[in-house]
Amino acid sequence: MLTKITDTIYKQVVPLPNNPLREINAYLIVGEKNLLIDTGFNRPECEAALQSAFDELGIEDTDLFITHLHSDHCGLVPKFATKNSTIYASETDGELINFEVGNLYWRILDDLFIKYGFPKADFGRNTDIHPGRKYCHESRVDFTYVEEGDVLEYGGYKLKAILAPGHTPGLMCLYDEEKKVLFCGDLILGTITPNICIEIGVENPLQDYLDSLKKIDKLDVDLLLTAHGTPVPDMHARIAELQKHHEDRLAEVVTILGDSWKTAYTVAADMTWEIDCKNWDEFPGPQKWFATGEAISHLQYLFHSGKVLREEQDGIYYYKVK
Ligand SMILES: [Zn+2]
Repeated sequence: MLTKITDTIYKQVVPLPNNPLREINAYLIVGEKNLLIDTGFNRPECEAALQSAFDELGIEDTDLFITHLHSDHCGLVPKFATKNSTIYASETDGELINFEVGNLYWRILDDLFIKYGFPKADFGRNTDIHPGRKYCHESRVDFTYVEEGDVLEYGGYKLKAILAPGHTPGLMCLYDEEKKVLFCGDLILGTITPNICIEIGVENPLQDYLDSLKKIDKLDVDLLLTAHGTPVPDMHARIAELQKHHEDRLAEVVTILGDSWKTAYTVAADMTWEIDCKNWDEFPGPQKWFATGEAISHLQYLFHSGKVLREEQDGIYYYKVK
């Protein structure tokens, strides 16, 4: 469904079938040049929804801005970019988006999760069923990299690029200071808390994320345009909720950990999750993966703030409270 948000900004809700996120909000800014912000997975249902927005608006050519590397945001870039399109992303996530094409990225990610205790037989070495991989773009993208402070002008908006890592290492927001409009990707979501997960080359993603929330909290925002879920009426109130959520999560992880050595995978099994499964064994593989990623980011935060010890045994990390 296409919704008009302002004179030149439209939102297209793109379905993500069989995915707990349900849908993604793709934004189109129309004008002399058009800009598409995020795309949906590389699957026919997403392509059809996005195409219907293009048809309704009579758009054939558009530039693209990709907020971050996840496939539900960039999966359709090669299908919607034409030879006239400029495709923007941060360098960090843009490089990773191109690295996602092929096997190596996914094998390195497998190894990373195995290092944090994910059993090889469970899902490790089998990221083929990871939705991010299954619905990934098929070819490399020729990006124009955007740096902090760069300004993109579309549809009467002057959109300043603001780097806000944490959800991914190079997540980039767009902010119009005068009109007080912020496109925030998955940095802030209304209905769910953004997944904070480990990524290749990242040590302490939760610290990065909390720093980004603080940075964005300083902005004056009247219209927050999130990549999933319903509108967020008060950005600052939602940021406070997200900060509280992670404080509570950190306390929960400390309690679960106690003074015995545990892996992130073991900790994840004992954390509370809003999922329709009776127990951890019932979790589908990809959900175990995301849950473990969440446990890793909280354990790494506690390790780096000196509250938790970490030891490596046979190539696997174990944690316990100091
Ligand atoms: Zn994401």
